[in-house]
Amino acid sequence: SGINFDKFDCIAVKVSGENPPRAVESFETANLRKYVVDNILKAGYKKPTPIQKHAIPIIMGGRDLMGCAQTGSGKTAAFLLPIINTLLQDERELVVGPGGCAQPQVVIVSPTRELTLQIFNEARKFSYGSILKIAVAYGGTAVRHQGDNISRGCHILVATPGRLHDFVDRNRVSFDSIRFVVLDEADRMLDMGFIPSVEKMMDHPTMVPIKERQTLMFSATFPEDIQHLAGRFLNNYLFVAVGIVGG
Ligand code: ADP
Ligand code: MG
Repeated sequence: SGINFDKFDCIAVKVSGENPPRAVESFETANLRKYVVDNILKAGYKKPTPIQKHAIPIIMGGRDLMGCAQTGSGKTAAFLLPIINTLLQDERELVVGPGGCAQPQVVIVSPTRELTLQIFNEARKFSYGSILKIAVAYGGTAVRHQGDNISRGCHILVATPGRLHDFVDRNRVSFDSIRFVVLDEADRMLDMGFIPSVEKMMDHPTMVPIKERQTLMFSATFPEDIQHLAGRFLNNYLFVAVGIVGG
């Protein structure tokens, strides 16, 4: 594509929170498994964008993160790459049985069907050839096909909030194996009235406690409401803002 990512290089980055790790300069030196680096290069990515340089070591270091960067700056890979890398560290933990209630290790919520599908497709690209199973759930279409895929056992579930709860309420999905929760486009979630659904997920009786999972939030802007949500949903988190983040 014609996107010039070098333009991001001169943008100021603000990092706050306790003991942030050093940003990485390249995918090759980010401590990612060779397999993941190969899939990144196959996707045509040559070097990480600023949000990726910071988010990758933070997430691989086990920390919660609030990441703010403008639209188009590569936030999707900033969370997918370290999550996929972490899941692939120990394949024994990836054994899932089909049927019954699916217990994804990662749930990624985003506000629209289009964004959800984009995240799903990127996740498939970066995990291509691995044993990771990725499922997608969004509204406006029949539950059945999505439900069949989820029930085959999924490690990563990418969903819109409403459809996610359709499955959770029917005991088709539970949160008791969760290692990562990602809230993407948090500012748009707020504008679209999805915060009650997000709260329902975070406070769900089956959800792994906040200190035993990693929670990651991404947003293009950082208004007061989002700052407030970060304070409630995240644990001892690092904050990374790339460029001027409107509030
Ligand atoms: P955001 O979520 O910040 O709006 P996306 O994650 O959707 O941005 O990324 C925007 C586009 O840039 C996508 O087409 C994505 O594949 C591409 N992209 C992301 N990171 C890189 C990179 N490091 N090198 C090249 N292209 C990238
Ligand atoms: Mg995005």
